[in-house]
Amino acid sequence: MIVVMKAHATEAEIQAVARMVEELDYNAHIIRGVERTVVACVGDERGEQHQLTHLESVAGVERVMPVVRSFKLASREVRPEGSIVKVGNMEIGGNRIAVIAGPCAIESEAQIEAAADAVKAAGAHALRGGAFKPRTSPYSFQGMENEGLVLLERAGRRVGLPVVTEIMDPHDIDAVAEHSDMLQVGARNAQNFSLLRRLGRIKKPVLLKRGMSMKLEEFMMAAEYILSEGNPNVVLCERGIRTFETATRNTLDLNAVPLLKEWTHLPVIVDPSHGTGIYKMVAPMALAAIAAGADGLLIEVHPKPDSALSDGPQQLKPSRFADLMKSLKPLAEAVGRTL
Ligand code: PEP
Ligand code: MN
Repeated sequence: MIVVMKAHATEAEIQAVARMVEELDYNAHIIRGVERTVVACVGDERGEQHQLTHLESVAGVERVMPVVRSFKLASREVRPEGSIVKVGNMEIGGNRIAVIAGPCAIESEAQIEAAADAVKAAGAHALRGGAFKPRTSPYSFQGMENEGLVLLERAGRRVGLPVVTEIMDPHDIDAVAEHSDMLQVGARNAQNFSLLRRLGRIKKPVLLKRGMSMKLEEFMMAAEYILSEGNPNVVLCERGIRTFETATRNTLDLNAVPLLKEWTHLPVIVDPSHGTGIYKMVAPMALAAIAAGADGLLIEVHPKPDSALSDGPQQLKPSRFADLMKSLKPLAEAVGRTL
């Protein structure tokens, strides 16, 4: 259920409603929108929900209504205007398309510094790079781990870009949060509920990727795990799913974009690098994602893709990334956005 407060409800009225909700054994999440505040009541669904409807007569309350969908805090009903997630000086979910770019993995100081220069020069808004890599084989390069975190942070600071990196193990959350501006949950961990809960207890933004065989409803529930622990800064990333098609690494499900934008207030970005696995397909699918209404892109860019230690075939070299950024600009404008 959600309690929609009147447009001019006072802070004292909002707090009083939150207290009454807690007294009814629900958790109260205060969600402040542009026009009005909503108090979302989450708890055991077997609870006596009808008691909440009595709050309609409380000062400052406009109405009490059920949230129809199984995801409550992520549902667009609680924040119809959509959420903007701030990551350093980048905003995701506003009018500007947010572009996060960088190599699959941090491989050396020279490599991440070159990547940082390249993506910054082309106009990206954040630098990515994996320090902890979830590799299919235990014999493949596993990432530079803590040393990689430090190199990424330094490269990002030098060029003035916030940095995004993957978190795999709940034990590494403090280290990863200390050195990065946004923590990525990879496809392979998208339903690691203990990791999601732990990320709900920090304030740093989380980039949640869709699991490779996750239905959209399940994707939303994964986001709900983070939100329900108190972290509202979640961005969803469509990165392709497994289908019967093997000509591409994954099938990039762009249906997800308009559907998720209708279901949730959370920003939605698209990763055409993992979505296709083929560098030549990255630019066309990036453009298609923006046309479909995505709030941003995650693009793998490597100074020398031929010698990359992971995901070489899908990484863009700097000149191709710069060309992509140029072609994105008029498209973004055509759909009423900026780059
Ligand atoms: C990545 O971003 O490099 C990555 C491993 O992505 P995914 O979890 O989507 O496979
Ligand atoms: Mn990768």
